[in-house]
Amino acid sequence: MHKQLITTSTNQYNVFVGNGIIENLADYLPKEYQNIMIITDSIVHELYTEDVRKYLPQSAQVSVSVVPAGENSKSIEQYYHLLTEAIKNNLDRKSLIVALGGGVIGDLAGFVAATYMRGIDFVQVPTTILAHDSSVGGKVAINHPEGKNLIGNFYPPQAVIFDTDTLKTLPNIEKRSGYAEVIKHGFISNEAFLEDVLETDITTDIPPMKLNDHLQKGIAVKADIVEKDEKEANIRKFLNFGHTLGHAIESELGYGNITHGEAVAIGMLFAIEVSEATYRISLPYQAYYHWLSANQYPLSLPPLSVQNLINRMKKDKKSENAMVQMVLLKEVGSPVTETISDQDLTNLLDN
Ligand code: NAD
Ligand code: ZN
Repeated sequence: MHKQLITTSTNQYNVFVGNGIIENLADYLPKEYQNIMIITDSIVHELYTEDVRKYLPQSAQVSVSVVPAGENSKSIEQYYHLLTEAIKNNLDRKSLIVALGGGVIGDLAGFVAATYMRGIDFVQVPTTILAHDSSVGGKVAINHPEGKNLIGNFYPPQAVIFDTDTLKTLPNIEKRSGYAEVIKHGFISNEAFLEDVLETDITTDIPPMKLNDHLQKGIAVKADIVEKDEKEANIRKFLNFGHTLGHAIESELGYGNITHGEAVAIGMLFAIEVSEATYRISLPYQAYYHWLSANQYPLSLPPLSVQNLINRMKKDKKSENAMVQMVLLKEVGSPVTETISDQDLTNLLDN
């Protein structure tokens, strides 16, 4: 088991990563809780709720709330439903919420915990590769029909307990989605980590030692950044590497038609191309392209309008003079933010 302490402006919490560590769940909770509510989704519920229940302190009253699997559950309706369940289950300020699942559950259950009775404790029990990213850093949110994550808060958990045995049941498409964020952490931090990921075939069973190592390194990169810039005043923006175009692709194609990570994977390819053109440098574009293709990332998308993508990439969509901000690399491990002209973007996107 690997343990990493994260310090935020409001608390300190441990991230535990390892195989089979759910058995020690009760030991990883920072204090005793009498009333615990597990929030999970329909797929994860079938697979893992029983285990989690078994390893929670036997003295606690435990309830389970299940929402449908998928991004649509990050809604005001599910949020409200969970608050009602919390009230019915008599959760009070000394109670605990356990977020059992991927990023959707972490964001949703975290936002319930952040707002129920002005905030109660919660722990993240991630079950997707992507959640190595989403469970760390304290961002919790639900979506509004007008946009993703528009309603949320910074609300760190009391602990992250990541039993990587749960990843054995993850479908390949979700492995690809999660590994995009792993390789992102490599690109923005360190060449050796990046190269190791580029040598990994994620379509077959990844050796547990390697998978755990990648997840721990990814978490360390994220933790280091959020500890220095929790509220995204400056360097936390670097975690958006690949996300400017990635988010634009996600919304142009419609959520559900491409996973977040797959869209970000293509966004990173583009960010690398823009970096090479802007700084006249050479980055491992080819090696990354081959890795994406060998691991069956969707490299050819349905035709998308370049103008629509650019409009979506603009932070301030209402201002005609708005410019697109992107995270670029000066070299592997040296991210920077840069403003790119529409003309340059059009030229590069047209290819
Ligand atoms: P997800 O939670 O929807 O999980 C993906 C799918 O895998 C779901 O169908 C789920 O039921 C299933 N699943 C989960 N664990 C499984 C397992 N062990 N075995 C089999 N199936 C399993 O999605 P995700 O990709 O984990 O997270 C995406 C969400 O994370 C997005 O809403 C995104 O906005 C959010 N996110 C948040 C942050 C943050 O900092 N808070 C960062 C990145 C992403
Ligand atoms: Zn992301």
